[in-house]
Amino acid sequence: MRRAVDPPVYRAAEELLASGQLGEITTVGGGAQSIVSSDHGPVYEVWVGVVRGAFSAECDCADEGVEPNELCVHAVAVTLAALRGGFTWSSAATPPSGAVIEPEVRRLADVAATLPPRRLAMLVAEHAAVDRRLATRLMTYAGKLGPLTDAELAVLRKTIDGIAQDATAGRWDLHDVAKAGQRIVDELEVVAMRPASAQALLLVEHAAQVWDGLSGYLYEGWETYGAEPEEIGGGLRAVHVRMCEELQPDPDQLVGRLIEILAQSDVTSCLDDPEDYMSLLGRERITTLRRRRCPPGSPSWSGKGLPARPASH
Ligand SMILES: [Zn+2]
Repeated sequence: MRRAVDPPVYRAAEELLASGQLGEITTVGGGAQSIVSSDHGPVYEVWVGVVRGAFSAECDCADEGVEPNELCVHAVAVTLAALRGGFTWSSAATPPSGAVIEPEVRRLADVAATLPPRRLAMLVAEHAAVDRRLATRLMTYAGKLGPLTDAELAVLRKTIDGIAQDATAGRWDLHDVAKAGQRIVDELEVVAMRPASAQALLLVEHAAQVWDGLSGYLYEGWETYGAEPEEIGGGLRAVHVRMCEELQPDPDQLVGRLIEILAQSDVTSCLDDPEDYMSLLGRERITTLRRRRCPPGSPSWSGKGLPARPASH
């Protein structure tokens, strides 16, 4: 890195790191992202990733005179911080500008960009005050919330286990199970607003297994609750896939864990939709995953006599 950039830029990056103005490093699109704060100056969001074999950066300061293809001070600082923190670089990262954005989101973002900052801040704050997910994302973007801490992870794990236990404790009916599933999804969607981490991913996988344990009851009552298992399971899987895409975990380890989760479930696991993992695992591992979850000649009914989720692929 030292050899790749101009000495003054390198020195300025070191100074920036020492100043403590660089926020937490998070994984976005397989690259490292952070924000640069300052007492009086503007706040930049900066991303660095390996694109086509070379470090590539996107920074809010870019339109202030830094040559394209050159790493600005902020990008060098993020790279140094990431390298020192043992960051795992994806070999084919997607820069934020390359992310697919829905046309309606793009249109509204263009409108939002025309608002005066204070008006925009109030608009976001009013909505964040009544929306836990938005509030969490806001704090995360502001660098005030990092990845889940060990203590938070432990509390969340307890909360999820508690929701599941309460669903079938005392007098209960299938509605309680469906409600519990929705509550678990709600908790995870808030988690997904924080910077992703390997530990948070394991928490989502734990929640998926908890839901697999509950969803069997709904499959039993499929006449009334035919749609809920897929709706709730689909919500859980969406959080898992999104977090995987953010983290780009080692595909061999990920497929190993998925095989285990699928094998441990008495009903079709909510994570059992190999197509959703295609970009993360590649065709070969997906084939392995498919083969492992339905060994030739295996009965389509599970051990407990519960029907499996109808195959959608
Ligand atoms: Zn910059």
